[in-house]
Amino acid sequence: MFKSKPKHKISKTNKIRKDDTVKVITGKDKGKTGKVIRVLPRKGRVLVENINMIYKNMRKTKQHQQGGILRREGPIEITNLLVVCSKCGRSTRVGFTKLEDGRKVRTCKKCEEIMT
Ligand SMILES: [Zn+2]
Repeated sequence: MFKSKPKHKISKTNKIRKDDTVKVITGKDKGKTGKVIRVLPRKGRVLVENINMIYKNMRKTKQHQQGGILRREGPIEITNLLVVCSKCGRSTRVGFTKLEDGRKVRTCKKCEEIMT
């Protein structure tokens, strides 16, 4: 029997927030950076502007006379992304630290500045 360790699990989604700039570290958009436009906390994924684009062929319907291709962002796993630090400009893993007033804030693991 395993003795279960106490869980201090920080939701992955806390590491990335809307309007963050992120860098893709794996997949077809590797190396690209973009702005987070939406976080999907339950799925552990985010939507990033112009990253992981999905093209969907639209059939001609009465509503869509032109048909054509619908282009939109597909969700990308948070583990495939690094946050670009607004202080040092480098892509980094995110740490957490507790301030004196008890607030938990994100920190850059490269320059150790607090990320807002
Ligand atoms: Zn930094």
